[in-house]
Amino acid sequence: DTSHEPSSIQPKDNEVNLEKLLLSVPDHERLRESLRYITKRSHVAGTEGDWENAYYVRDRLREFGFDANIEGVEVMMTYPVDRPKVFTSEGYHAKMSEDILVEDVTSGTTQWRNHTFLAYSPSGQVTGKLVYANFGMPEDFDALGKMGVTVNGTIVIMRYGGCFRGLKVMNAEERGAIGSIIYSDPQQDGFSQGPTYPKGPWRPPSGVQRGSVQHISKCAGDPWRIYLNNSQSSNSTVKEVCGYETHDMIPKHPAVPLSYEDAMPLLEKLGGLSAPSEFQGGLAFNYTVGPSDFDVTIHTNHTFFPRTIPNVIATLTAEVSNKANTTSAVILGNHRDAWVFGAVDPNSGTTALLEVARTFQVLKQTGQWKQRRDIILASWSGEEYGLLGSTAYAELNAQESQNRVIAYLNVDCAVKGNYSLQVSATHSLAKLFREAAQQVPAPPVLASPSQQSNNTRILRRKTPVANNRSMADVTIWKDQEVLTLGSGSDYTAFLDRLGISSLDMSFLGSYGQYHSVYDSMSWMEQQGDPTFEIHQAMTRLWALLAFRLATDEKVPIHMTEQAARLVEDLQVVDTSIQEKFGNQVDTSSLDQAAMHFLNAAMAIDNEHSRLGEYATTSASQIEDINRRLSLVEREFLGPGLPKRPYYRHVLQAPGYYLGYGSQPFPGIHQAFYDGDAKLAQSEVLVAAKAVSNAASLLRGDP
Ligand code: GLU
Ligand code: ZN
Ligand code: ZN
Repeated sequence: DTSHEPSSIQPKDNEVNLEKLLLSVPDHERLRESLRYITKRSHVAGTEGDWENAYYVRDRLREFGFDANIEGVEVMMTYPVDRPKVFTSEGYHAKMSEDILVEDVTSGTTQWRNHTFLAYSPSGQVTGKLVYANFGMPEDFDALGKMGVTVNGTIVIMRYGGCFRGLKVMNAEERGAIGSIIYSDPQQDGFSQGPTYPKGPWRPPSGVQRGSVQHISKCAGDPWRIYLNNSQSSNSTVKEVCGYETHDMIPKHPAVPLSYEDAMPLLEKLGGLSAPSEFQGGLAFNYTVGPSDFDVTIHTNHTFFPRTIPNVIATLTAEVSNKANTTSAVILGNHRDAWVFGAVDPNSGTTALLEVARTFQVLKQTGQWKQRRDIILASWSGEEYGLLGSTAYAELNAQESQNRVIAYLNVDCAVKGNYSLQVSATHSLAKLFREAAQQVPAPPVLASPSQQSNNTRILRRKTPVANNRSMADVTIWKDQEVLTLGSGSDYTAFLDRLGISSLDMSFLGSYGQYHSVYDSMSWMEQQGDPTFEIHQAMTRLWALLAFRLATDEKVPIHMTEQAARLVEDLQVVDTSIQEKFGNQVDTSSLDQAAMHFLNAAMAIDNEHSRLGEYATTSASQIEDINRRLSLVEREFLGPGLPKRPYYRHVLQAPGYYLGYGSQPFPGIHQAFYDGDAKLAQSEVLVAAKAVSNAASLLRGDP
């Protein structure tokens, strides 16, 4: 019985010194050198380069004192066999190859510059008329419909932007299209934004965005769930886990990506009605929507076969034993696989992960660090194909992770350039984030808001920028709040499947090389972060967040902000329910649960902040509060969302038609799409139950 042992809250000084030390360790030249090593060769998931980098990361983490191991996961991989082709009945052949640039030293060193493909597109050949459908979102197809243009039986050309690419193909298919082309319009990340690479940071004419076209908003992870076949812990089928058969989570028709150089001749000759103004992109002619007079043919040839991809999992074990064992680990995750060289995506994060590990080694060596919780570093593979490595880990370690993991901190693209930091998180981590960000100096090389691109979708902090800036001053806030998580990176299974509080952060920038051969060390050194000080800032911040989560006797999770956000989101949803369904739907149970949750949140935060002020505080009292704060996120898991039971979190999910973007109260939103009052009512009750369970856990109800 520990209940009468005195609390062992540390004198603050000690921790302050360790934190100072922590901030002093990350070194920009080491960050540069690790990134140089990792980006020397292409390392697409499951290829030799991926394995070589996995060994490298494992060995470095061992060198830094972690218990690091490769955990292979068997998944379905797909690679191009021949180069995909796009050609017209008029004799036009798209080049489908990224140019060798002398200034970009690795661009000529790999066959991957000719492998411009979309993962999980089937092999095949289709021929049809061409129609332009803007971003390929439902409203774009509606606009075409209003003009009397149908995509049934046609090949649809869509531009990148607005939503996850796999959902563009899903939308086109649902409307009867027989093939999809997705191209990078210069308006989004090419010359309309500024000078193109190598002169500037933006996408050059031949640059192609590869990527996965799985239907991410239905389910994450390997659409075949190969690893379940030989898992002892599970004998579930794909359908049982995902709610869908494999073929309903991936495209049925061939899909290819194009550069704007290759897309231009197709769009210029498209003909048909002129496009609505929202469809107009950055190419120098008036866009039309087709259908074309000429035929277009798409040809793809991909192999599909099971292959083992390497996750690297490394643990730095806590020194203080945790008897309850319920609040005892924090995970830091970054994927390591890239579309080609991946200097930004994802290896700016990988080099930061290695430097975080070295920082913890230095702290350990002081002999003063009382590490209370395990720190687990995860270097995922297969993210680019659809979050394969992280999702498999989360599923195969579900029980243990739900018992032990208090937070998952993701960094994918650590540095896209020299703009503000974007942070998205479960709002229970917002206070931790803000306080840590105040301790980390902002890198002086960051552009001032006025120098930042006129990209209007970027939200900027309103406060004027002073000279001695901390990271808190240069973080993008929406009304002073941290943004809400959608999907598109490896936190997805942890948050949406396991109910683990998560955070994701990235420095934004003039990043025009996403998923192209030019996302390279040359680009990073010439354009992205020549001094590596932005990498250094990310390393400091990531390490400090993890340090506090692993060290503070009182877990740094705070509920008031999460509750306030919930209440705010609910007000918006209530208004929509009222508008759409009137009195058919009774929201009082959810409204009440939300107020209970808000009260319980304020009470526990208050209690938490006072713990330790009195000599009578016992270790077990602290442990009890820690347990409640660490586990409360799990209560937000429901039985699974309508139409996509894989996603279980009732407070947010990736928007069904967005993928990357987040949707609050997604079950209720589904009822809006479907115009289904009965569904709205039942989803209100599901959310009410979850929220009231969360309140009761916070209160410590028996
Ligand atoms: N981050 C990758 C992408 O955007 C994979 C995202 C996913 O499949 O969810 O293409
Ligand atoms: Zn990534
Ligand atoms: Zn990526």
